[in-house]
Amino acid sequence: MLTKPPLSNSLVELDRRHLIHPVSSFRGHEARGVRILTSASGATVTDSEGRQLIDGFAGLWCVNAGYGHESVIEAAARQMRALPYATGYFDLGAEAPVRLAAALAERAPGDLNHVYFTLGGSDAVDSTIRFIRYYWHARGQPQRDQFISVASGYHGSTSMGAGLTALPLFHDGFGVPYSWQHKIASHDLYRNPHADDPQSVISTSVAELRAKVAEIGAERVAAFYVEPIQGSGGVLVPPPGWIKAMREACRDLSILFVADEVITGFGRTGPLFACEDDGIVPDLMTVAKGLTSGYLPMGAVLMSDHVYEVIAEGAGAKAVGHGFTYSAHPVCAAVALEVLSLYESGLLENGRAMGARLQAGLATLCDHPLVGDVRGRGMLAAVELVTDKAEKTPLPAELNAATRLFDRAWDQGLVVRAFAQGVFGYAPPLCCTAPEIDAIVERTRKVLDLTLEDPEIREVLR
Ligand code: PLP
Repeated sequence: MLTKPPLSNSLVELDRRHLIHPVSSFRGHEARGVRILTSASGATVTDSEGRQLIDGFAGLWCVNAGYGHESVIEAAARQMRALPYATGYFDLGAEAPVRLAAALAERAPGDLNHVYFTLGGSDAVDSTIRFIRYYWHARGQPQRDQFISVASGYHGSTSMGAGLTALPLFHDGFGVPYSWQHKIASHDLYRNPHADDPQSVISTSVAELRAKVAEIGAERVAAFYVEPIQGSGGVLVPPPGWIKAMREACRDLSILFVADEVITGFGRTGPLFACEDDGIVPDLMTVAKGLTSGYLPMGAVLMSDHVYEVIAEGAGAKAVGHGFTYSAHPVCAAVALEVLSLYESGLLENGRAMGARLQAGLATLCDHPLVGDVRGRGMLAAVELVTDKAEKTPLPAELNAATRLFDRAWDQGLVVRAFAQGVFGYAPPLCCTAPEIDAIVERTRKVLDLTLEDPEIREVLR
């Protein structure tokens, strides 16, 4: 029999020994240890020491509805009691996923009428790649196997999605991107030399996409992927009209256009889907996070009629060989249906009002000596710290800004995302009250003031 070393009772110690955390330095995490959250309600989370914090990042930009909705918990419990699982294989199913697919199709832009459920965003992106390859095979153009995405973009952490992702951390040591994955520059308005002239930003990106397609070979390109607002790249908001111009360029170039709405979906930017703001209909759309508001894992691919028809005709009587055991999980679907009804009975509206308040509040931080840029839309925002405003110099990497900023915010009772390059990311739950939004802004100001007093930061300030 195997003997194991005695286990410490300390959760921190158990975590250190056994739990691998996502996107973490193994050694850094061992040194820092875990912070355990024990409960949550509305926009407030409580840690194991009883500290209450405003969750300014809705978990991982996902708890859009906020914590502790009894009706969501009841919906899950009801479904679990009645039928905890039903496969979608063998033409089987359950009521909740069918109703959810219909509800999403009814609300999605244009003819995105077909829904394939996944367990999250990464496998939704992965599924689009497989469906798109299948689509081009069915159209008799299997050589269309090249994919293009945008620098600073994030499209998940499966091997294929991580290759579409354009953040070096997700590539280094993993052997991605693959040779069939290409990138064009980001619109990144803060550092774009044409930022004063949005039309020029748009035409430069369109020209770059066209040039990339020509370089690869127009007959070889399968699809182009965008986030309506780039999230993990640092909340980079394109100029108005950018998404529409890129969508039209794709139509012109006869390549599929995929909108990755894993972050921007479900009220994050105002409407249910950000594509509504941009006035476009993508060929495929990915969603996750706010779909269940993080209460359970679920994502989805929304597929347009024309893509669906090509795949259906191409396969004929043969099965399309793509599926997961937990596709269209009935308990996740029951939760998503209840969450959707919460969005539509006031949360979207509150999110729009609070989003305007958040943007206006954060804009007041622009005059702070450390703040180079404030940007965002709705309940999605970023504050970028720099050591030199004129030069837009990021905080030096060796200062480990993300950990310092995160810790300082935590001490002020605020959870925010602190990106490595010294960018605060905000995605509060849509249920936030006005005093909570104001507290997010005020606590951020306090963190900035404390950071300004940090001797190592003072040294690099110009
Ligand atoms: N796509 C985008 C735009 C995302 O922001 C994310 C996650 O943050 C993903 C895909 C991957 O989603 P998940 O982490 O649920 O796999």
